[in-house]
Amino acid sequence: MQQRSRNPYSSAEIDRSSLERDNEERMIELASSGEARFVPIDSEKNLVKSGGMPEAVFLQGMMGRAVAGAADHHIFLGYVDGAPYFAVDVTGKDTPVSTLGDFVDLRQVGALLFAKEGSILAYARGMTYWHRRHKFCGVCGSITTVAKGGHVRRCTNESCKTEHFPRTDPAVIMLVHHGDKCLLGRGKQFPRGMHSTLAGFVEPGESFEDAVAREVYEEVKVRVKNVTYRSSQPWPFPASVMIGFHAEAESLDYEVNLDELAEARWMSRDDLKPENMPKDGSFFMPRRDSIARRLIEEWLGHEAGPSISG
Ligand SMILES: [Zn+2]
Repeated sequence: MQQRSRNPYSSAEIDRSSLERDNEERMIELASSGEARFVPIDSEKNLVKSGGMPEAVFLQGMMGRAVAGAADHHIFLGYVDGAPYFAVDVTGKDTPVSTLGDFVDLRQVGALLFAKEGSILAYARGMTYWHRRHKFCGVCGSITTVAKGGHVRRCTNESCKTEHFPRTDPAVIMLVHHGDKCLLGRGKQFPRGMHSTLAGFVEPGESFEDAVAREVYEEVKVRVKNVTYRSSQPWPFPASVMIGFHAEAESLDYEVNLDELAEARWMSRDDLKPENMPKDGSFFMPRRDSIARRLIEEWLGHEAGPSISG
């Protein structure tokens, strides 16, 4: 298989050092060391230095300790270039961090950040999102406490003690093609003119391939075959991983399910040449940092879509 570059937000450069999470003393030692970096999150937003090119803000030293002290707990993310990183949720806390930058939605700036920074911010955001929604046990309703470096929440009810783990919901995303055409759709929430690949969540009891076939049929009444995996992308917005495929349609006949999509259309390779795109904004493709765009670019035979540095 051809060597592919990584998709944005993937965490190959983060050593998660997952075995260390069990060692509570080690977690405390790392968090209180001068090397520790803290990644603050406020209401699912990441701290980014604004003005010029955006840059992730990681807190160290006095500022790091002040913010870490204000947070309810620290989430050990792992090591980056030898330094331990921790996510801290500062939502509703009185901290001085807002003087260092702005809390922004990562999706607005992710494409402009260094890949490594984007990966750390996405991971931190995904983890704090999960914590904020699992303060109580889903089995018995009791309060949960944080364990294993922030990678487990344990029920405090002695007769329950259920351990809860961070959730990632798999979603399939697929470029449907037939001969020289591919099918692009516009979701109801998409910006005007943006057309993309089809996508949907995997349901319990489904393989990824089953989910591709079901979602495509649900959205456009097309039967697919030759479903082939291409690549995946973490998508913690709020809690997904996108698993990308190409899928061959059995025919060009289709019928848009208007409960799911605003519209869909077959586009030829020629239609998708930049010079043939409408200039009035009525049709454009998804952003270059998305797996959707990569799936399209790969089908077009261009080099792998996302340009990845770092
Ligand atoms: Zn419980």
